[in-house]
Amino acid sequence: MDAVTQSKFDSSQQLELLQFLDVGLVVVNSHLEIKLWNSFMTNHMAIEAVDAIDKTLFDVCPKLPDVYLQRKIKSVITLQNSLTITWQQRPHLFEMNCYRPITSKSKLMYQDIRIIPLLNANAIVDHIAIVIYDVTESARAQIGFQEKNEELKLASRIDPLTKIFNRGYWESRLEAEFKRYTRTSSSSVLIMLDIDHFKAVNDTYGHQGGDTVLRALGRLLKKQYRITDILGRYGGEEFGILLLDTNTEMALTLANNLSKELAKAPIMHDKRAITITLSYGITQIDASFKTHDQWIDMADKALYQSKQNGRNQATILNCQKV
Ligand code: GH3
Ligand code: MG
Ligand code: MG
Repeated sequence: MDAVTQSKFDSSQQLELLQFLDVGLVVVNSHLEIKLWNSFMTNHMAIEAVDAIDKTLFDVCPKLPDVYLQRKIKSVITLQNSLTITWQQRPHLFEMNCYRPITSKSKLMYQDIRIIPLLNANAIVDHIAIVIYDVTESARAQIGFQEKNEELKLASRIDPLTKIFNRGYWESRLEAEFKRYTRTSSSSVLIMLDIDHFKAVNDTYGHQGGDTVLRALGRLLKKQYRITDILGRYGGEEFGILLLDTNTEMALTLANNLSKELAKAPIMHDKRAITITLSYGITQIDASFKTHDQWIDMADKALYQSKQNGRNQATILNCQKV
């Protein structure tokens, strides 16, 4: 390219070229007045350049987080260094529509933003370029991947029949609580509960009937207990309930309420009413337990006593009583 040809590529042509970039470009001066607004901005924000030029950025885009962005711009001017705001930090800094096929909830464009200082001949930053990259596709892919992962993680913790935690996850929570106790001495209570004569339920109403009972009990447990309680299906028809920061009296009340609820509303299966009763073993956490297994063992022992004493009852067994 000779000098003559090169000289023809003047600043107006350079400006013209910026219009065709597939990124948003806004240039503002130190008073944040817009000096350049390219066609990408017009297309995605439905604001013409003539309506933007010479107005301040926050007048043209009132939804911009002004305090946040002014702080960023100030730092670019002071440090004379560009910086990036990623979509993870601010997914939709400029409220822009996205014209790509919509596969997720958000119709807005995900953006990575680069703020660049523009120095004048005196090496002073007198303008700032804000470059907006459309990263919608990769952001949506990443969000979808994370959501799927969360779903899988949750599914791996839930018992499919009763929709409460499965034994593996529930026990890991119990173990974590046990470790927390050794640090904080918070008082938690464990209830092990078992359906009485469940074999007879299966024999009378079939395995499907038994499954209906387990599902209904799962629902009732979820309904009855507090958000901080940790419910798990420990075995076939045995459940564990970890009550955080509770005493045995409160646990006993909860158990009694649950049994009353079951007596009041029988479980329906094939238009037949199934009434079940529950036996409980209740044990408070104790410093003399070396592992969480010992805690479960003692609650199980209490449960066994409830069975021995005629079922449909709760037994409290704490360390000091042994
Ligand atoms: P107890 O009062 O002593 O607890 O007697 P029980 O009959 O409840 O106890 P047992 O341990 O003799 O029987 C439990 C039954 O639970 C046997 C097993 O087939 C049944 N069971 C375990 N898991 C499931 C399940 O997922 N669905 C159904 N329908 N039955 C199950
Ligand atoms: Mg049973
Ligand atoms: Mg059992």
